[in-house]
Amino acid sequence: MSENEQNSKKIELPISITVRQLAEVLEASPIEVIKNLMSNGVMANINQEIDYDTAAIVSEEMGFEPAPQHIEEVAEEDIGEIPLWRRKLAEEDQAQLEPRPPVIAILGHVDHGKTTLLDAIRHTSVASGEAGGITQHIGAYQISHEGQLITFLDTPGHAAFTAMRARGAQGGDIVVLVIAADDGVMPQTEEAISHARAAQVPIIVALNKIDKGNAAPEQVKQQLAENELVPDEWDGDTIVVPVSAIEKKGLDDLLEAILLVAGDMEILANPKGEVFGTVIEAEINRGRGVMATLLVQNGVLKVGDTVIADKAYGRIKAMFDFQGQSIKEAGPSMPVSVMGLNEVPQAGEFFTIAKNEKKAREIIKDREQIIEAKETEEGEMVTLEQLFARYQAGDVEELNLILKADVQGSLEPIISSLSDLKSESEGEQEIGVKVIHSGTGRISESDIMLAIASNAVVIGFNVGPDATAKRMAEAEGISIRKYSIIYHLIDDIKKALQGMLSPIEKKILIGQADVLVVFPSGKYSKVAGCRVQKGEIKRNAQIRVMREGKMAFEGGISSLKHLKDDVTEVKAGFECGIGLKNFSDFKEGDSLECFVIETVTVF
Ligand code: GDP
Repeated sequence: MSENEQNSKKIELPISITVRQLAEVLEASPIEVIKNLMSNGVMANINQEIDYDTAAIVSEEMGFEPAPQHIEEVAEEDIGEIPLWRRKLAEEDQAQLEPRPPVIAILGHVDHGKTTLLDAIRHTSVASGEAGGITQHIGAYQISHEGQLITFLDTPGHAAFTAMRARGAQGGDIVVLVIAADDGVMPQTEEAISHARAAQVPIIVALNKIDKGNAAPEQVKQQLAENELVPDEWDGDTIVVPVSAIEKKGLDDLLEAILLVAGDMEILANPKGEVFGTVIEAEINRGRGVMATLLVQNGVLKVGDTVIADKAYGRIKAMFDFQGQSIKEAGPSMPVSVMGLNEVPQAGEFFTIAKNEKKAREIIKDREQIIEAKETEEGEMVTLEQLFARYQAGDVEELNLILKADVQGSLEPIISSLSDLKSESEGEQEIGVKVIHSGTGRISESDIMLAIASNAVVIGFNVGPDATAKRMAEAEGISIRKYSIIYHLIDDIKKALQGMLSPIEKKILIGQADVLVVFPSGKYSKVAGCRVQKGEIKRNAQIRVMREGKMAFEGGISSLKHLKDDVTEVKAGFECGIGLKNFSDFKEGDSLECFVIETVTVF
């Protein structure tokens, strides 16, 4: 292995690449690449885009040492992965751009200390005197270190929030990846690395819990290097900062590192330009109505502006900073909580402002019409067979679902009906349905990311995917199924679950013969003298005796003769004698249907 690595050639790959381009990089023929992809279970044609991970596997197998392409070198055509706000920023008048505070997303495996670290930074670095006043949790905050502002996104750490964390990476300029030194690189750590890479955001590693006796920082650095995050002390590009969130140690070093990395980047915005940004989180507050935390990424957002985020819109009645202080305006990189939207927008949604509420309504209506027109065109997206096919193959014990509906009122009955569904097999392993995420609104990119992370099927009830989600689902092979009748949804899932458990025995008709005459055979038994009318009668097949349209008997063949000879099959047009096991009550005119049993899984 190590010898192989030494001999291998280093290459840099973008976040996605066509098979043809990859073949060029690998100095191989496209056919070779396609064959390699196939052996890895990926069917791709020469012009198809494959993602970084796939391209990396193929490259390694073909003797190369792939690494992600450096951010500055990302090609124009990779723009699809770049968040909308960054693309919008690129359209701004470049001469007007000014530096803005860096926005940091903290990602990492559950329990590695993200929350503790965020709290520790907040408490030590928020200007003293104000710290006591922190009562608000708005999903983001700002601190000042050495006179420079830094914005932290406080993305939820629970496994179910994978997609939101991914969004966190998208909204941020830098990812701080928290890794517990006693636990090392774990699945969510790897996932966070992928999200940061997808969003083309640099990573700083906070090696947390170094106070613990069993902390093994060197081992973690090794793991990082294996994940293409080579620590700077090993001549790599990744800054690794040892910290103890609980003992508040190493925090200054971490903030220093953030400013260092930020200093190397161009973190800019046009305060005089178009107002836009990202929805960080939103909820309904009893007294205040919809409260949405927005991260302003360009321009200056003011009280009185009409915000528009997907289908939500409204005039800002009041605006607060993360400490709950009422403010009148907010510039780039500032997180604010705003009051006045008519509905809860999705976290991660792009927001901008409209001239007034009337204009906002028009924009939303236009958008909806475009989406509706597209949906009608698309029609049914995937067949149920495709949808559940991958669950048939493996030892899947639970069918993970992500459920989106138009209104909250539809979600509850669906979820409770689904939880009632139990597999009907007795004694065998029990397969259940697990709704890992449910919500209202269109199926979004976040839902698809969550589906990828949890191997789930996405169900839309009266809602479909938005354009980005659809593209992503297609690229990642995630099934989306749309319903508008609850009963149909439940019924389909039920059938799928049964299919997953017990393949159905399907009877396949292979021939038919008419009984012309009945002979005695031995003392107690009778055989039917028949003519085969269709197909063939096979010795090892089954026979169904049909009399006046009804089934009189069904069972195996005990003897099959043509003239005097025992035979294994008799084809249409020939006569034969058929004896059945445990049946001799043939009547002239009976129709014998010959069938074989195949075990198939059908829905
Ligand atoms: P999260 O799931 O990543 O947000 O992790 P938490 O911040 O909730 O931390 C998980 C657990 O690790 C908690 O019990 C923390 O008290 C503990 N923890 C966090 N940071 C440290 C640290 O630096 N040292 C030690 N010993 N424990 C820590």
